[in-house]
Amino acid sequence: MVARIPDNVVDEVKARASIVDIVGEYVRLKRKGARYLGLCPFHNEKTPSFSVNAERNLYHCFGCGASGDVIGFLRQHDGLSFPEAVRKLADRLGIAVPESHEDDATARARAREKDRYFEATRYASEFFRRQLTTPSGKQARQYLADRGIDEQTAEAFEQGLGLLGVVRHESSLDPGGRGRRPEGMVGRSTAARRSRG
Ligand SMILES: [Zn+2]
Repeated sequence: MVARIPDNVVDEVKARASIVDIVGEYVRLKRKGARYLGLCPFHNEKTPSFSVNAERNLYHCFGCGASGDVIGFLRQHDGLSFPEAVRKLADRLGIAVPESHEDDATARARAREKDRYFEATRYASEFFRRQLTTPSGKQARQYLADRGIDEQTAEAFEQGLGLLGVVRHESSLDPGGRGRRPEGMVGRSTAARRSRG
């Protein structure tokens, strides 16, 4: 039997816990624009390179690379497990953490479900990213170039999916204009006929 904190409780803790308040208990933070800077608690330094982003609720140290969210900070700083860190924050915020237990089979089923979801997302992302690099992705690449986005940037942000959607949409606005339709968008049978002819 595994004690497990429900996802909605974890989400509420993340949404309500202020990383500036929590980190501020351990580190003297100075506001600088949208960020807060301080001396990193995870490595020795004299010049502050530890940055807290209040808006994104994340911390990052440019000196040692330590980074994470408010739960990650407590885990790293106090050596807590994930549930311990969540409970500590929940206590502080007055959020009730229901005691829930699930057997190992249920936990394994849940993990499998999550794996399937991530695998499908990863596959789709990789597929569309690859499409962008093929000859049929020419129009999408042109679209990127027109907007001043280079290939590396495009790849980094995996924009293939959204851009091909835009191209498909623009093509559908011009149903008669077959010349504008990118190769990758024609059906398999059309492409096959074309390659035979
Ligand atoms: Zn550091």
